[in-house]
Amino acid sequence: MKLTFLGATLTVTGSKYLLEVAKKKYLIDCGLFQGQKELRLRNREPFPIDPRTITAVILTHAHLDHSGYIPLLIKQGFKGKIFASHSTCDLCEILLLDAGRIQEDDARRANRYGYSKHHPALPLYTENDAKDALKYFHGVDFDKIYHLEDNLTFSLSHSGHILGSSFITLKQNDTTLVFSGDLGRPRDPVMTPPVQIQFADYLVLESTYGARLHPNFDVLDELEEVFNSTFAKGGSVIIPAFAVGRTQILLYYIYKLKQEKRLSEHIPIYLDSPMAQDATTLWNKYAREHRLSKDECSKVCAVAEYVQSQADSKSLNSSPVPSIIISASGMAEGGRILHHLAHYAPKEENTILFVGFQAAGTRGDRMLKGEKEIKIHGHLIPVRARIENLDTLSSHADYKEILDWLKGFKSAPKQVFITHGEPDAAESLKSKIEEALGWKVSIPHYLDTESL
Ligand SMILES: [Zn+2]
Repeated sequence: MKLTFLGATLTVTGSKYLLEVAKKKYLIDCGLFQGQKELRLRNREPFPIDPRTITAVILTHAHLDHSGYIPLLIKQGFKGKIFASHSTCDLCEILLLDAGRIQEDDARRANRYGYSKHHPALPLYTENDAKDALKYFHGVDFDKIYHLEDNLTFSLSHSGHILGSSFITLKQNDTTLVFSGDLGRPRDPVMTPPVQIQFADYLVLESTYGARLHPNFDVLDELEEVFNSTFAKGGSVIIPAFAVGRTQILLYYIYKLKQEKRLSEHIPIYLDSPMAQDATTLWNKYAREHRLSKDECSKVCAVAEYVQSQADSKSLNSSPVPSIIISASGMAEGGRILHHLAHYAPKEENTILFVGFQAAGTRGDRMLKGEKEIKIHGHLIPVRARIENLDTLSSHADYKEILDWLKGFKSAPKQVFITHGEPDAAESLKSKIEEALGWKVSIPHYLDTESL
């Protein structure tokens, strides 16, 4: 087998791995590059190999940095099957259609106001392209072995990161290859813990938090402080949240705060992302993938008012009442969160609360680094609001949790490939694994190929 790294090398986005087995080619994950411009430009380049020669794609999970390139792969001629867990298929439908819609909107706006350097600005793909892509999806069950050609099999097991997220184990004859996708946390209050993988000859391992430990704070205490100190100043809390995953955990914590009477009943809470609303309803459908009971699940889903239309979303900004607005996207790179930021970021009584990893170069990253102005829809917006990051809410294991998971392996892999992390995170995780376990670890570069 031959493995080529087509993304997520020394960065957290663009996950794509090409596996060549005999004469067939498979793609593990098919993510978009996000964040820095040099990376985003890769989305517009022709795919490094002819997509018509790829037999199938297997997805670890639905986040766009793992699935968002699919419509482009199809536009360039891919005709194979896309295998993913049933819940990942459902989430991809929500996420890909939305991604197409957002790209069309952005291109339209850029052309209308002339702030793009491209004339005309074109979407990477449209909502229709995304709709077309859904026909290629095939849902598969967890923990079942599926046969591909040349004696190759694959199976999915729960990775505890978001609904549907999976480790992918591929086997051919005596060789086993495992992709971690994004590794969840063992004590997440909502997701079931990642399954322990016991064996791999080769392991492709994420390293988002390879250099960091999640702080040991109580999330409820932190949230309570941010909410109540902002409301005391008469401000609102604006939360850019990943529609799938973080939003549902956040709703759970808000439900808990209300239940414990630590958050006033009178504060309106808005979930202003139709996509997050759809994703939240899937929690009832896939009850076995999380820890909430049926009753808890419906109470958590009902904790916020769901904002439907774009006009209703904009009208939230004219309300004088302090409120909590949860809106996508999580790194403030697109979507309805942008008009909320344009309205709330200039006023110092408000708080912008980030709740997940911010890739380098994204608006979220720049605001957290203290930039005093951000560009939204071609306008410079002053940032005077309090900017906070609730890292504890992350759905990625930190380095200690990664090491603990690795310690559950029955024997050392021949080789670990570290991906899906910024350079310092990848390097740091590499040395920690070498030190703690003595395993052979490398950090591949973009387009590197390894013979397995
Ligand atoms: Zn993810």
